[in-house]
Amino acid sequence: MSPQQQANPVTGGCFCGQIRYAFTPPEIATVNCHCTMCRRASAAPFVTWLVVPTTQFSYTRGQPAELASSAEGTRYFCAQCGSPLVCINRKHPDWTDITLGSLDHPEHFAPTRDVYADTRLDWVTPIEKS
Ligand SMILES: [Zn+2]
Ligand SMILES: [Zn+2]
Repeated sequence: MSPQQQANPVTGGCFCGQIRYAFTPPEIATVNCHCTMCRRASAAPFVTWLVVPTTQFSYTRGQPAELASSAEGTRYFCAQCGSPLVCINRKHPDWTDITLGSLDHPEHFAPTRDVYADTRLDWVTPIEKS
């Protein structure tokens, strides 16, 4: 990738298009989270998150609704269509977690590790074989 391509923002948004966002690469990490809160909040077996510096992230259309999903975590989603978009943990507010599934081009990223693997569903193949 050329430096110019690297500087291009990565874009994404919700299902209905009311909320759009962009971030400037590089990301800090891409992980599969198997925690029970991600599972319930997304209604999916696990959630793949891109972790990016908060300073590199911005909403470019609309503003999401918020859900305080734990003492530390706030989840951001589209109030119209319900797409989960972002999670921010108050323990490290300088990181913004973005749902890989809401990217315009999720095929450009792949998770490199599992988190909360202790609550991973048995039939989900782990990334790391321990
Ligand atoms: Zn929407
Ligand atoms: Zn989680």
